[in-house]
Amino acid sequence: MRKKIVAGNWKMNKSFFEAEELIADIAEALEEIDLNNTEVVVCPPFVYLEMATDIAEECDIKVGGQNVNDNESGAYTGEISASMLASLEVDYCIIGHSERRKYFSENNAFLKRKVDAVLNHDIRPIFCCGELLAEREAGHHFDIVRIQLEESLFHLSSEQFRQVVVAYEPVWAIGTGVNASPEQAQEMHAFIRQLIAGKYDIAVANETSILYGGSCNAKNAEELFAQKDVDGGLIGGASLKSEEFIQIIQSF
Ligand code: PEP
Repeated sequence: MRKKIVAGNWKMNKSFFEAEELIADIAEALEEIDLNNTEVVVCPPFVYLEMATDIAEECDIKVGGQNVNDNESGAYTGEISASMLASLEVDYCIIGHSERRKYFSENNAFLKRKVDAVLNHDIRPIFCCGELLAEREAGHHFDIVRIQLEESLFHLSSEQFRQVVVAYEPVWAIGTGVNASPEQAQEMHAFIRQLIAGKYDIAVANETSILYGGSCNAKNAEELFAQKDVDGGLIGGASLKSEEFIQIIQSF
């Protein structure tokens, strides 16, 4: 059966020492709880990845990057390649976050190349998809998500696709305090699973973890995670405090 996953996207937050304290606190708290097969992932800024993988090695935490360059290596000042992430034993990489789509103009075709780059290094993409508020209000949300998946993921073989984690993150819910209702989340997650079954097969669709992201917190996680096709969460703001993140992990 598919994995339940709770992943924290720390974005551009925390000093080195704060980040070290946060992951150490999460690691310590995890020793005391029954994870019930839930995979815990933290995605710190690039400069803290080595510290994070060192701590994660000793416990039940996986580490993810928040971004990657689509090239293998070369003259791309300031960029980080998938092989560099792999050399730090990073397990996951967020790709297609709406903030990257918005502020760095990353489009579906470009994100496809990033997906390929990480898979070539056995790093699992956490591929974010989701519609803007205006797109939902116009009734286009299913089409937007379908096109995002078709253009960035559906070139993969089923073997490659098995490594992908999908995160449905309606853009209007990210950082706004307004989460999708459990019904809205379930409806879109079921739609995504159906698309995967149509492109690949039911077995691949049933094995794919589909996470919900967007103002998910300790108060609403239980109801969201109780939905049949919601396999966990990609958590922004609420992943920056260890107690709240741990509560979310325990919400299954
Ligand atoms: C995110 O940025 O992926 C996210 C889900 O943020 P937040 O939980 O803060 O809405």
